[in-house]
This record gives sequence, structure tokens and C-alpha cells, in this order.
Amino acid sequence: MPNQDWIERTRRALWHPCTQMKQLERLPPLPIARGEGAWLIDYDGRRYLDAISSWWVNLFGHAEPRIRAAIAAQMEQIEHVILAGCTHAPVVELSERLAQLTGLGHAFYGSDGASAVEIALKMSHHYWRNCGRPEKTGFVSLIHGYHGETLGALSVTDIALFKDTYAPLLRPTHQALSPDARQARDGETPAAVARRAAADLEDYLAAHADTTAALIIEPLVQGAAGMVMYDPLYLRLARQICDRHRVHLIADEIAVGFGRTGTLFACEQAPGARQVADIADFLCLSKGITGGFLPLACVLTRDDIYAAFYDEATARGFLHSHSYTGNPLACRAALTVLDIFEQDAVLAANHAKAQRLTEWLAPLAGHPRVAHFRHRGMIWAFDVIDAPADFALEFHRQALQRGVLVRPIGATVYFMPPYVIDEAQMRLLAEVTLDLLDRLPG
Ligand SMILES: *Cc1c(COP(=O)(O)O)cnc(C)c1O
Repeated sequence: MPNQDWIERTRRALWHPCTQMKQLERLPPLPIARGEGAWLIDYDGRRYLDAISSWWVNLFGHAEPRIRAAIAAQMEQIEHVILAGCTHAPVVELSERLAQLTGLGHAFYGSDGASAVEIALKMSHHYWRNCGRPEKTGFVSLIHGYHGETLGALSVTDIALFKDTYAPLLRPTHQALSPDARQARDGETPAAVARRAAADLEDYLAAHADTTAALIIEPLVQGAAGMVMYDPLYLRLARQICDRHRVHLIADEIAVGFGRTGTLFACEQAPGARQVADIADFLCLSKGITGGFLPLACVLTRDDIYAAFYDEATARGFLHSHSYTGNPLACRAALTVLDIFEQDAVLAANHAKAQRLTEWLAPLAGHPRVAHFRHRGMIWAFDVIDAPADFALEFHRQALQRGVLVRPIGATVYFMPPYVIDEAQMRLLAEVTLDLLDRLPG
């Protein structure tokens, strides 16, 4: 069936995420029949470079053969079993390997990023309650932070367009200054901005630590804010401040985990940190965890936090659950992702690849319409100075016509390609972007 038929049936039956459906009149959905590496292929046979890794979930390209084979093999054994009272090899092996990679000894599973955030928030409060501090119910996040869209996660999210409508349903939380490196005043370095933001956090916790359970942050890159990047020093300072005031630090690495920022986990880049456990009390993972194949989320935490729930009393235990917790197919996919990181020495390969793409994108850094060209690991972003209100939609629409799938956030254009992007695809991405910047009206 050709594209057009799928578009019409979509209009009649579907309600899309993060979409004003009326906009589909101007920009119909892109029907995708299959994927191949960094390419998406529609029902009419046209190819599109997936420059945003299908909403940041894909790592090694579409239809990666090793992940496909691992899921197929697991399907022959057991597709799913209740995880309350049962256990199985994929979930045990994955928990052991993630513990070894992060230093956080116990793993709890959910089905998507927002559920991981809910789990971490509830666990943090419940820990303090079990420790005789039930008044620690508050949460701090960063200005323009994003942690998902369920009510708890949205309460710590600070993106007006997603939040304002539902404000009457949400718990009040505090937003501390973001260490956004673009906020540098005259002569200020990114590290100085990080120190200034840390001082703001310190001021808040000095007054409110008694009623605060946790700080939740996106380490190094605030994704949905428009790929806001900041100095790793902030992670170290935030850890020290949380220690000083006895507040948990929740690292939401749902978008930045699994190599996106150049290290396996972003927290590892904090000065002096050897592993995630040196920075975070809770680590939220999802998106790339299965290479983009299946929904899975994981919250890792320290053994001493886990121990505070271990008791004869049922209600002191963490009684949260989701039906698909620890799904064996998804865990098998995640184990294969970890294997691929080792087999293909992915982090080293990405380092070289990132240098090449940065070279291809160099003309953008000096373009007269571009401000704050920035890059960390396998993420690139820049702000368009004179972008009109419909810039994001128009850029997206015209890039698709040239075979590139990108979705700017407001006036920010970003790239988060699958790690398998090759030289010809880098060139296409750079050429299309430069051409659109020259042609789109200001
Ligand atoms: C995507 C994202 C979430 C939410 O994950 P979902 O799977 O969409 O619920 C939470 N935090 C961050 C940082 C994210 O990028």
C-alpha cells in the first residue's frame, strides 16, 4: 500500500504523541515501512536519514542484526513472566552487568522513561520515610529540565508548553538555576556558570533541605530544553551540596546514557568521578537501553538505600509495579547492546566519528544565522538567531523533502544520529542543513 493510503488511515484512527493533530493538514505523518542502519524507508521506497535516532532511542541503526537475533532466540524460550515472585536469566544478568558498570548495586525495572522517574521519586521519598524523615517530600530540578510527562515526572519538568495546562494536577516543586553554558556573562567560563548555578542550589537547600527528598537532573545535556549543555563540574558540585544537606541526587540519564555524551554514562565525566555511583544515588535509564528495539526502563540505586527497605514489615518494602517489569525480550536486547559496546569498541569508534561530523559541520559554527554551536559526544546543536515562529516545522518539512529527518526544538536545530552514521550520511546532513539555513526566511 502506498504512503497516501497510510496517511489517510492514520488521520482517521490515530492520535499522535506531542502533536497538535490539526498540523497534520500542513505536514502529513511520514509512513515508514522499514529501516536499515541510519536510514528510514517509506512505503513509496524513499529514504530518510534518521538524524534524531527516532526520538533518541536508536543506537546502532535500525534492524541491527545482533539485537534482532537475540530477541528472536529469547522468544523461543520465554517471552514474558510476572517478575513479582519469579526471576529469569536475562533480568539477573542485566542487573549484574549494570551494577558492575555503575557501582549501583540494585536494579528496579519499568517500561519507559517516565515510569523510571516516577520510581526514583517514590523510592527517594520512601527511603527518607523508612529512615524516620517522612517530612522529606519535596523535589528540586533545574530550570528547563525535562523528566517525562506522567504527573509525577511532569511535576519536576520545567517546560511551559508541556506543563502549564496540567499545572492544577501537579505537585509544586522547586527549580534551581541551570548551569546552561550559554548563560555565561562577560568573560565567564562554562565552569564559572556551573559554580554560579551550584551556589543557587546551595542557597535553596540551606533553607529547605529538611523538607527535600531529592535533586533530579539531566547530567551534562538538558535534552528537551533544546540540547542545553553544561560543564561537568556542576555534577561534582551538586553531589557535594547534596551530601552536605542530606538530599538524594537522581541522575536522569534516560536520554544521555549509553554513550550519547562520549562516555557510557554522562556522570562519569564529573571531575574525580570513577563511576556513576560517585555522583548519583539513583540512575534512571531508558531510551537507548535496548538499542531502540523495545520499551524498557531501569532505576539503579545504592545497596544501602536498598537495605533501608529490607524488613519484616511489608509496607516498608517498595510495592510499586508495572505489568511488563523486567520483560525478558527487552532485557535480552539490553544485554546485546552492552555486548555490542564491547565487541565494536563503540566509545572509541564514536570518538573518531564525532570528530569527523564536527568537521563536516564546521561551516555551521561560523554561519551568520547561527549562535551557540555546541557539541558533546554524539550530540550537536545550535540556535538560529532570527528564527520565525514556524521555523521548527518548516525546517523539519523541507529537510524531509531532501531525505533528512530532523525535528528542531523551537529555534534550536540538533543532531543525535545513530552511532552507525557514515561519511556520506554526514555529508548529506551538513549539506542539507547549510542549504536550508541559506534558504529559509528569517
Ligand atoms: C525522554 C525522556 C524522559 C521520558 O521518557 P519516556 O520514555 O518518553 O517516558 C525522561 N527524561 C529524559 C531526560 C528524557 O529525555
